[in-house]
Amino acid sequence: MKDYLIRGLAFNDEVRFFATKTTQLVEEIRRRHNGYPTAMAAVGRTATVTAMMGAMQKSGDTVDVRVRGNGILGNILATANEDGEVRAYATNMQTHIPSNEFGKLDVRGVVGTEGDVVVIKDLGLAEKYTTTSPIVSGEIAEDFTYYFAMSEQIPSAVSLGVLVDTDNSILAAGGFIVQVLPQASEETITKLENVLTNIKPVSTLINEGYTLEDIATILFGDNYRILKSIDIKFLCNCSKEKYSSALITLGREELEDMAKDELVETVCSFCNEKYEFLQSEIKELIEKL
Ligand SMILES: [Zn+2]
Repeated sequence: MKDYLIRGLAFNDEVRFFATKTTQLVEEIRRRHNGYPTAMAAVGRTATVTAMMGAMQKSGDTVDVRVRGNGILGNILATANEDGEVRAYATNMQTHIPSNEFGKLDVRGVVGTEGDVVVIKDLGLAEKYTTTSPIVSGEIAEDFTYYFAMSEQIPSAVSLGVLVDTDNSILAAGGFIVQVLPQASEETITKLENVLTNIKPVSTLINEGYTLEDIATILFGDNYRILKSIDIKFLCNCSKEKYSSALITLGREELEDMAKDELVETVCSFCNEKYEFLQSEIKELIEKL
């Protein structure tokens, strides 16, 4: 089953929700970066919430997410757009530590418990909107629950999960966000709280073969409607052209230094794609200055 995302309204349109399956996306990130299990749990959760935040944007807008904790994983960066194109990585992808007291991958242990979550919405026309909220847990889902409450004033329940197989490949990944709209009744909120306390972890449900529609049914019974469904895929928008422009900004001195080598290799941090520049190509860039 391919990765996808649904968004909709539930409980007589008193709540809105997003749900996504991101197993293949997270596996693609793992494969490209040779990510270790604890790193992948943290990066996978961040990629998953970013995919859903991308779906909250208007057409053409992108969302940039940075989780900057004080742990050994370093910073996590993720980008997504309304079309379901997502990319993500962390500073130290080869991070793995023993499981926590619940036998789960210790995400907090690698992300850290201090730092911030930065969300940059690129609204096109060079207009950017940045909001920051503190890391309150380091487990990612709680940090975004806090972000939505504090920065966007939307009471939300965020659930994110990544299951890693014994061979380190990704068994299941996904998540949901349920947001209470201003017109929600007390009854709806209580009903929602009960369901959320009792629902199995989202990665377990996905691993057991539940579809996103099945998960919506667990959450809302038959009192929901899907407004949109999109495919989720890994996509990095880097190119050799973009790296050429970036190299030019380094300036003459730096480029002349580079031109001493026969081959200059640049690597995209997001997708690990390599771009090679021959000595002659670097010299061409210098001529353009
Ligand atoms: Zn790239």
